[in-house]
Amino acid sequence: MVNQTTDFDRLVQEITSCTLCSLSEKRNNAVPGEGSLTADIVFIGEAPGFYEDRDGRPFVGPAGKFLDELLASIALRREDVYITNMVKCRPPENRDPLPVEILACQPYLDKQLELISPKVLVTLGRYSFAKLFPGETISKARGKPRTWRDITVFPMYHPAAALHNPALRPVILGDFARLPALISDVIPVPEPTPEPEQEEAPATKQLSMFE
Ligand code: URA
Repeated sequence: MVNQTTDFDRLVQEITSCTLCSLSEKRNNAVPGEGSLTADIVFIGEAPGFYEDRDGRPFVGPAGKFLDELLASIALRREDVYITNMVKCRPPENRDPLPVEILACQPYLDKQLELISPKVLVTLGRYSFAKLFPGETISKARGKPRTWRDITVFPMYHPAAALHNPALRPVILGDFARLPALISDVIPVPEPTPEPEQEEAPATKQLSMFE
């Protein structure tokens, strides 16, 4: 049997000591991801920014605050899901990750998905969407569930997009509001376990008034 925690600890160790690309040279902290290792839902962003690099945690800056708000809007907490990024180290000045960096980091995300085995993947922004569906545009695909290797994928704009363009805020909130229905379609609610039958107590003899 796979020991998921040990495998995951080993993976985190590999990520935090990785030197496969030059992003490792300038990082303060690698950001493997965080949340439940048995989560049904995994969120995949792009790459750590300043605050994530400082703290070693994903989505803790302004975009993360909006992600927290989005999660709360559908009664989810960070610890109910798993949150990670395509690239685990911060690109300088928050530039877009390069193809060579995405490629170097890809095995880590693949292993995370293999270990967690989620039922729903929410891709945040064009990079994580393009990993699964290269060549398509996020503006056309967003908000429409689709399937990738037996996993339901829900493409969304990146939460940071709403910080740059406030008009996208209601769009992102609207897309997020569709998640609960999708989740309950994909993840069946377990049947309640029937109460064990009570042994019937022996009937107490009713004395008739005339006995
Ligand atoms: N943007 C991302 O894509 N990921 C983070 O962790 C933070 C900001």
